[in-house]
Amino acid sequence: MANWKMSEALSFDDVLLEPRYSNIKSRKETNITVEMGNDAVVSMPIVTAPMDTVVGVDMAVAVAKAGGLPIFHRYNSIEEQTDMLALAKRKTHGVPMIGAAIGITGDYFERAISLSQYGVDLLCLDVAHGHHTLMEGAIKRIKDKWGDQIHLMAGNVATLEAFNDLSDWGADSIRCGIGGGSICSTRIQTGHGVPTFQTILDVAQTDRKALIIADGGIKNSGDIVKSLAAGADLVMVGSLLAGTDQTPSEKVKVGGKVYKAYRGMASKEAQKDWRGKVSSIEGVASMVPYKGSVESVLGELEVGIRSGLSYSGARSISELQARATFIKQTSAGQIESSTHIKRIA
Ligand code: IMP
Repeated sequence: MANWKMSEALSFDDVLLEPRYSNIKSRKETNITVEMGNDAVVSMPIVTAPMDTVVGVDMAVAVAKAGGLPIFHRYNSIEEQTDMLALAKRKTHGVPMIGAAIGITGDYFERAISLSQYGVDLLCLDVAHGHHTLMEGAIKRIKDKWGDQIHLMAGNVATLEAFNDLSDWGADSIRCGIGGGSICSTRIQTGHGVPTFQTILDVAQTDRKALIIADGGIKNSGDIVKSLAAGADLVMVGSLLAGTDQTPSEKVKVGGKVYKAYRGMASKEAQKDWRGKVSSIEGVASMVPYKGSVESVLGELEVGIRSGLSYSGARSISELQARATFIKQTSAGQIESSTHIKRIA
């Protein structure tokens, strides 16, 4: 006999924040800094997805200088990854944090040791299904070795139970969201996942201290504001930064338009490149329109986040969380919420 349970879940586009009375006269009055622990403070709540079409040295330097949190991907040799970290650390003296991703099997501990020797500030235990016995072992091993010297991010998880377990095992911050990424096909391949916004609503009920990172499916600054209001401390973004000058791939011209590569790390193409074989394909490889400099993209996101705080009458992310009132939209509301002018040309 089956013993299933069923519940409903909300996505970003299902909800809106009700505007609240505001006495904020300028967006400059809003504070969007995030305390990462150990006196490290990032000045905007944006983390780079550790993917090979998003983060190389140029992206890490630009994001760190703009006040966000860069994390180098792990789909390369230990030497390649530590070289990137060393280059970025020269170029970004005084920034609060630069991170790097590692796995939870194979050479992950050796990789962590090398990264620590090059002064990594944050290690990200980066796997698709983080609520896993191997994750418990890896978190405990890293924490045993470095304690609070290195911030430990782990994930991904989709439920409150998983969040609490990773936090109890020792994670300082946890990536929340399974199956929501723009290049992700996990839900198609496996039938599993939870809409990212619902995961944030669920994990925000935690009584643990770990920071909440909303990850996957964030399309615009509105989704960032909804994530923060629902309880996220930071958001991790891939597609929003893809297509900028600072991503590692070359520009490609197709039919007179310029594009750059963006691909899931579990896509067939990425798996072939980084491990020479393909197992469960849970992502796609794509091209996104070229967007210019990441500084201007981050600048627009920052303005949108600050405006979002102002609409809620909030001067900080914690005030936003205290004042947030969500409403569910109907499908007619969703149409009204997107630009819907009937264009003549
Ligand atoms: P985006 O911001 O919606 O583009 O999503 C980026 C996120 O997708 C990353 O931070 C990862 O959590 C996730 N991701 C990256 N590659 C894959 C994949 O191949 N399959 C599923 N999820 C992926």
